[in-house]
Amino acid sequence: MKYFILFGPPGAGKGTHAAPMAKKYNLKHLSTGELLRAEIAEGTELGLKAKELIDGGNLVPDEVVEGMIAKAFGKYRDVAGFLLDGFPRTVTQAYDLKEMLEARDEEVTAVISLMIPDELIKERIAGRAKIEGRADDAKPEVIENRIRTYHEKTEPLIALYRDEGIYHEVDSVGTIAEVEERVSRTVAEILAKA
Ligand code: AMP
Repeated sequence: MKYFILFGPPGAGKGTHAAPMAKKYNLKHLSTGELLRAEIAEGTELGLKAKELIDGGNLVPDEVVEGMIAKAFGKYRDVAGFLLDGFPRTVTQAYDLKEMLEARDEEVTAVISLMIPDELIKERIAGRAKIEGRADDAKPEVIENRIRTYHEKTEPLIALYRDEGIYHEVDSVGTIAEVEERVSRTVAEILAKA
């Protein structure tokens, strides 16, 4: 099985580029943000607990997202692998993912990091807010908190995956088609070496 991580700050285009990549390589796209929003929409206990944290731009506890990921790994067997979008987001999640995969005799294949400057994050999220209507996209202070959280808690993962030699950066500034082409080329290079 292949395990790809689509990495990057909020608004970098992870969701946009995950869909075509998952389709092309028969990967199950797992977005922890989408899974959490589905729990909220269904009004589950987990969703109710997560809502306040998400709406404030804070991360939900590691064990909550890890539980969702473990469940999905067990559920989808008829795929070539998984495309993780928005997970892992903390060093603990990264180590726990490593353990989860080791238990299955698997490992992370590659991390594809979508790079955009902070100023552009705000612009992109403002554009998305009009289309998707997400509460956490609507307030400037919540967006600031999500960017800060990314830098403090998620960005340290870059060094970790770089040390493992599986970290690849893709410039996410440009049109969707341009970035998709860059992502495609990077995945092709990774698979050619695998
Ligand atoms: P996203 O759709 O990936 O931008 O995620 C939306 C929100 O869901 C984030 O701001 C967090 O509050 C929560 N979330 C998503 N993935 C994770 C994760 N791996 N760890 C903790 N919280 C997460």
